[in-house]
Amino acid sequence: MSFEKLGLDPTLLRAVASQGYEQPTPIQAEAIPAILAGQDLLAAAQTGTGKTAAFTLPLLQQLLTDPQPPANRHGRRIPRVLVLVPTRELAAQVADSIRDYGRNVPIRTTTIFGGAGMQPQINALRRGVDVVVATPGRLMDHIERRNIDLSAINRLVLDEADRMLDMGFINDIRKIIGLLPERRRQNLLFSATFSAGIRTLANSLLQSPQTIDI
Ligand code: AMP
Repeated sequence: MSFEKLGLDPTLLRAVASQGYEQPTPIQAEAIPAILAGQDLLAAAQTGTGKTAAFTLPLLQQLLTDPQPPANRHGRRIPRVLVLVPTRELAAQVADSIRDYGRNVPIRTTTIFGGAGMQPQINALRRGVDVVVATPGRLMDHIERRNIDLSAINRLVLDEADRMLDMGFINDIRKIIGLLPERRRQNLLFSATFSAGIRTLANSLLQSPQTIDI
């Protein structure tokens, strides 16, 4: 199996090659075509399986081919992709991956997490962004203060969903999902384990998902 066969754009193939990746990991081989096809996804994946590239590469491709970035009344771009993660460390890692793989994709990514000042995050949101990688608690703070416009979110990723539930984020996650636009959205859920809580969340969030269990 090669990255070329997965349907990735040459821009992203170059980025993958410059990372030194020779072939897709099993989760990438399954997830990338499914995500590019617009399917919802329920993936059992541990850290170290290459799960980050499995969702960031196809999301970048979708952003690359998205004709018109949405903007607010001030002409600033508003986010289309929301990635929820349990910790600031994972937020930083996911954002770094998006920046590495998306070097030649003209998008902006920002991170939102607790334990850091609100103002720089507000400034980044105001300048305009395409992808937000956030921990649920701090994102709720920004939502409540009306610092973020969620009206253009059409793709949602829950990464390490089991850890988010263990950390008590379920109520925030449900609130955030409830505030996203109603129209059709692509939802991707990654989790190392599948508790009853994760299955309930998956059932309420995902529409006819492709299931991946590596
Ligand atoms: P993750 O599971 O997303 O935390 O990724 C684990 C590590 O695998 C990261 O350091 C990636 O840079 C690396 N990685 C991801 N995809 C590949 C690949 N196809 N070939 C080699 N290494 C990879």
